[in-house]
Amino acid sequence: MTESSTPILSVAFEADARACLMLGAHRSPVTMVRGRGSWLWDAEGRAYLDLSQGWAVNALGHSPPELVDALAHQARALLNPGPAHVNAPQLAAAHALARASGLDEVFLCSTGAEANEGAVKLARAWGRLHRRGAATIVTTLGSFHGRTLAMTAASGKPGWEQLFAPMTPGFRKVPYGDLAAARAALDDDVAGLLVEPIQGEGGVVVPPPGYLRGLRKLADAAGVLLMCDEVQTGMGRTGRLFAHQAEGIRPDVLTLGKGLGGGFPVAALLARGEVSCFAPGEQGGTYAGNPLAATAAATLLAALEAPGFLSDVERRGALLRSGLEALAADIGGTVRGQGLLLALVLPTPDAPTIVSRAFADGLLINAPRADVMRLTPALNIGDDDLREALQRLRRCVRDAAA
Ligand SMILES: *Cc1c(COP(=O)(O)O)cnc(C)c1O
Repeated sequence: MTESSTPILSVAFEADARACLMLGAHRSPVTMVRGRGSWLWDAEGRAYLDLSQGWAVNALGHSPPELVDALAHQARALLNPGPAHVNAPQLAAAHALARASGLDEVFLCSTGAEANEGAVKLARAWGRLHRRGAATIVTTLGSFHGRTLAMTAASGKPGWEQLFAPMTPGFRKVPYGDLAAARAALDDDVAGLLVEPIQGEGGVVVPPPGYLRGLRKLADAAGVLLMCDEVQTGMGRTGRLFAHQAEGIRPDVLTLGKGLGGGFPVAALLARGEVSCFAPGEQGGTYAGNPLAATAAATLLAALEAPGFLSDVERRGALLRSGLEALAADIGGTVRGQGLLLALVLPTPDAPTIVSRAFADGLLINAPRADVMRLTPALNIGDDDLREALQRLRRCVRDAAA
C-alpha cells in the first residue's frame, strides 16, 4: 500500500524546527503525518508497515474509526470539568475496567509511570495501615516501570543503577523468574512486589510457567501485596485481556497504560477494595479521570471485549510466531513472547542494524536489546499485512547476515 502526496513540510523549516526539540532519545530522520490501521505515512508520502505501533500502544492500529469518532463526540460534549467533579466517561471506564479485571477500584491517570507511582504509594499507604510501616517494594532485575525518578529507581534496567542519582530509596531487586530469590527478599520491611508478567522493554522475557502463581502464594504467605505492571502486557496484547489471567491468579494491584488508550494517553491503577486505602488528598492529578482519556479507555475495552476479538489475537499471534520461527531456524535464532508481544532473538547483536534496514525497506520494528527485535503489531492487523511484514523482515535479516 503506497500513497503519493506532495511534501507538507519544507526541508528548511523541518531542519530549523527539529533543532528546537529537546530530544532525550534517538529518533528516525522522518516526520510522520498520517496513519491508518497498520500503515503510517511520512511527510514525503512514504508508507511504512508498522509492526511496532508506538511500542505496543495502538492496539487497534493507527487512528481507528471507532476511537476517532468517540473522541470527537466527547470533545464536543466536554473536554475537562476538572478533577473536582466526576464525569460520565470516567464512570463508564472505571466500571468497565473493574468488571473486566475482577478488581474493585480504579484510578485513571495519564502515563504508565504515573500509574506505577500510584501503585507504590498505595502499597506504602497500605503498609503504614496494615504492616507496621513496611514500605520496601521488591522489583525484578531487567524490569521496566517508567521514567519518573522513583520508577527509574524501581526499574531493573541495566545501566540505570545510578541514572540521575541520588536514586530514590525503597526498592529491592531480585532476579526475574526466580521464586527462591523472591521468597528470600520478603522480610518485614516489604510492603509489596511489583512485577511484569512478561518483561517487555527488558527484551520480551517470559518467566517460567507458574512464576506468577508462585509469587501469588509467596505474597499471601508473607502478607504483602502482589502488584502486576501490565502497562505493556495488558489490554489483549498477549491474547488474554490481562496476561496474569493465563496463570489463573488475581493480583492485589494492577497497572495499565499503553494499549489502554489505543494511542490516546491514558493509564490506570486498579486495586482490590481491601487494599484501596488512600485517604482523601493522598492521590490525584490535574488530568486524573479526564473525559477524553476515559473515553479512549472505555472504547478500547469495549473493542477488546467484542466476541472473538481475543481469540483472533491468538490466531494472529500464532501466524506471526510461525513465520518468525521459520526465520529463526534459518539464522540460528529463537522466538519468544505470547500473543502479539513477540521477539526474534538473534545469535548476534545485529538487531539495531536490522531495524535500520527494515526502516529503509518501509517496515517499523524495534530493538529493545542489541540481540532482540520486538514486534508489537496492531491486535487487529490483517493477515496480508502480517505476511508482507514477514517477507520484508526475512529480506532484512538475510541482507544483514550476508
Ligand atoms: C512503557 C511501560 C511503562 C511506562 O509507561 P509510560 O506511559 O511510558 O510512563 C511502565 N511499565 C511497563 C511494563 C511498560 O512497558
